[in-house]
Amino acid sequence: MPDSNVMAFLEHGRQLPDKREAENRSQDFKDIYQKAEEADLAEQAERCLDCGNPYCQWKCPLHNHIPNWLDLVQRGKLKAAARTMINTNPLPEICGRVCPQDRLCEMACTLNTGFGAVTIGNIEKQISDMAVKEGWYEAPIPIDATSGMKVAVVGSGPAGIGCADYLSRKGVGVTVFEKQPEIGGLLTFGIPGFKLEKDVVFKRQEVLESQGITFKTNTEVGKDITFQQLQEEYDAVFLGMGAYQAVDGGLMDESNPNILAALDYLIGVTNHNLDLGVADSEYHDLSGKHVKVFGGGDTAMDCVRTAIRQGAASVECVYRRTEEEMPGSKREVQSAKEEGVQFTFYQQPTAINKTDNGVSIDVEHRDTGDKQTIEADIAILAFGFRPNPPEWLTSLGIELESDNRIRTFVSEKDAELNQATSLANIYVGGDMSRGADLVVTAIADGRDAAKQILSDLSY
Ligand code: SF4
Repeated sequence: MPDSNVMAFLEHGRQLPDKREAENRSQDFKDIYQKAEEADLAEQAERCLDCGNPYCQWKCPLHNHIPNWLDLVQRGKLKAAARTMINTNPLPEICGRVCPQDRLCEMACTLNTGFGAVTIGNIEKQISDMAVKEGWYEAPIPIDATSGMKVAVVGSGPAGIGCADYLSRKGVGVTVFEKQPEIGGLLTFGIPGFKLEKDVVFKRQEVLESQGITFKTNTEVGKDITFQQLQEEYDAVFLGMGAYQAVDGGLMDESNPNILAALDYLIGVTNHNLDLGVADSEYHDLSGKHVKVFGGGDTAMDCVRTAIRQGAASVECVYRRTEEEMPGSKREVQSAKEEGVQFTFYQQPTAINKTDNGVSIDVEHRDTGDKQTIEADIAILAFGFRPNPPEWLTSLGIELESDNRIRTFVSEKDAELNQATSLANIYVGGDMSRGADLVVTAIADGRDAAKQILSDLSY
């Protein structure tokens, strides 16, 4: 970085764009952050020390070339920066929004030792937003000569897109099968709009399509097309169908309509907001309700903040450990607090019972063992998710782990690639094989699977 001012981090502090006022933003599902000016992005990018050992890059599951694109941004070469971003990440504006940077790239930034990390995520978000808006990707992304190979991808979430993007850039014909009416999987249906507006996903879809990827929505494998057809018509199949089976800690009671599984609740609200048609039984309007959400991860934060936006009378997050031990992004917890969510720690729910108007929840203090019963109109369980492979897959004898994750196998040609399944030419990645995890790790799996497919099929 010959032109950079190495003392810039002292001259300018870490500065994220302002959030919209909590009172205002908690009325809608729009992005809570305002935009930084281009000059401010350059100023923030200039803070990068180019420390020589880019811990940020290693900590990013995609090993994004972060110092390189920060250098380009501070020199005003935004188009080049955007194209550098896309080389390692097919969804940079999405990762910039939803990655828990405080546990990943920004946590590892050398400046995160009292000076404030470079605002890596926001720079990635805004530069990539500009690239999509300005059509900077319209000039074709370099694609190798067409291989003649065809790959089917089942599921259009981050893992599927990670695989499809990499393969399509190598000249492989890729068709993505998606049972929902829109692509994106959890990006579209699970993550609320205030973290990821759905237009962002749909605009990226246009870029991916212009790159040659075909998306077949409303097409469920096992129903609208058989898996055998995919095996016959394609050289390989990638499975990226996520993890949607709620872990309920033994507390779910299907006969109690006032206990909701977190993901079902979020999906119902998104379907409603997108006007996609949702059965009354699947959409829960929590306006005026007293809501308790159990769990402490990002999905729990999505639920509490969604309930706030629906106009819940009160929303409390009940977590069994301390605030410091919460597994999600601290940034999301902070935003939830600003928006009016209450937090209670060290309380472990042991039973949920029906009452005339809602539920009563028995909780036990994890430290003192004190027991009490708390009341709510609605209890939402956000304890995590596990994969639930469909019958058409398990009937083929695919090997599973004890918790229903698809077992993966290391490539014989490249021991760093580990996305094959026990079935020939069938690969897997994302939550379906690693268990519920981050968007960015799912993308990384999808890309690794693509590399393994190309390697195994000797492309
Ligand atoms: Fe950071 Fe996520 Fe972007 Fe990687 S993909 S640089 S972890 S925000």
